[in-house]
Amino acid sequence: MKVVAATGNAHKLKEFREIFPDWEIVSEREAGFSAEVEETGETFLENALIKARAVCKGTGEAALADDSGIEVDALGGAPGVYSARYSGGDDADNRALLLKNMHSVTDRRAHFTSAIALVFPDGREVTAEGRTFGEILPEERGSGGFGYDCLFYSYDLKKSFGEATDAEKNSVSHRGRALAALEAKL
Ligand code: IMP
Repeated sequence: MKVVAATGNAHKLKEFREIFPDWEIVSEREAGFSAEVEETGETFLENALIKARAVCKGTGEAALADDSGIEVDALGGAPGVYSARYSGGDDADNRALLLKNMHSVTDRRAHFTSAIALVFPDGREVTAEGRTFGEILPEERGSGGFGYDCLFYSYDLKKSFGEATDAEKNSVSHRGRALAALEAKL
């Protein structure tokens, strides 16, 4: 199956390709799509649909979008859908702000959520969600992955996502689980 990945995030694109090696996954840039899509939804699923619909409409090809983030129990689910925009800066700034906000917090439970939307030019839409559970570490561990990976201790892997290999992370990650659920639906 050929799909356009509705993302400018090279890490997500790499994970899509690792998880679906049999699919031909091209980036939105390769497909000639350069418009900025505003994520105005209040949920991961709404935002995934907004992105996939825009890229499908703009390219005329099936489009696959992920909207994801980390939700911390003690912070009432923050940063949630604002994970990418938490500090207004880059990934390192986001991690620094999260550590600051968790300074005196003892309950450090958190989970990642990924909502996936696959939208076809004929109007068909297939969606799925995945979650993975763990805790926010008091300091960064490992240098792999992206975003909050090196602050997330995975209950499944018994180490941080930053310390995990790509294959280990994909086998238990929110995105891996959402894509497996999507594949089962297809
Ligand atoms: P989105 O691209 O708007 O969906 O924003 C997702 C944001 O959530 C990213 O910028 C990261 O900060 C965070 N995030 C999502 N998935 C992961 C992951 O697998 N590892 C680490 N951070 C992630």
